[in-house]
Amino acid sequence: MDESSFRQLWRSFATLIREHKDELNELDAAIGDADHGSNMDRGLTKVVDALEASPEGSLRADAKLVGMTLMGTVGGASGALWGSAMLKFAAALPDAPTVSWADFVAALDAFVQALAQRGKATVGDKTMMDVFIPMVDELQTALTAGEPPFDTVRSHAREYSERTYDMVAKRGRAAYLGERSVGHVDPGSRSSALWFEALGAVGP
Ligand code: ADP
Ligand code: MG
Ligand code: MG
Repeated sequence: MDESSFRQLWRSFATLIREHKDELNELDAAIGDADHGSNMDRGLTKVVDALEASPEGSLRADAKLVGMTLMGTVGGASGALWGSAMLKFAAALPDAPTVSWADFVAALDAFVQALAQRGKATVGDKTMMDVFIPMVDELQTALTAGEPPFDTVRSHAREYSERTYDMVAKRGRAAYLGERSVGHVDPGSRSSALWFEALGAVGP
């Protein structure tokens, strides 16, 4: 992936978040505090501005800028999680103008590990991890098998998000609802699926 594709990924994600802002707020209204779409939209708008204002240099520098911006502007649980994990993603990337897909997926693995460390959630807890963990697993498997990894991305992220509908929330605000959280898609899993949708559009 080169730097211009990386920047395109964040512009596409920002556009998708904007288009789905109300839907994300509604999902969060059912099991949280109705702000997830607004939180992500505020942060991604700033990410696009920050990248625009920053001269091209390296993908790693861009990723660091994205992490710092998300950390400072999204707010809520998702801001701390996305922000800190993007900084780990940046640190795991080789410092080069273009990185291989294997390097990119390895950095994504560091992203997921940072999420796990900070949020303590795993698969089945009804969070963004229900999308990120299986998706990164699938990307790693596809790479090992020598298949174009982003065919996977395009088809599966939304399905993993939908699976949170039947889950009982174990982490974050929704966990206070216990069994009453069943019957709703987790908002953070939905926005994470949108990130993979944006990635699928720039990936091979
Ligand atoms: P807040 O809950 O502080 O209002 P948001 O509404 O922006 O923050 O984000 C909520 C989303 O964050 C949830 O839908 C969930 O996917 C994710 N989330 C919350 N807590 C955790 C956690 N401990 N680990 C992973 N993801 C989490
Ligand atoms: Mg919320
Ligand atoms: Mg909130």
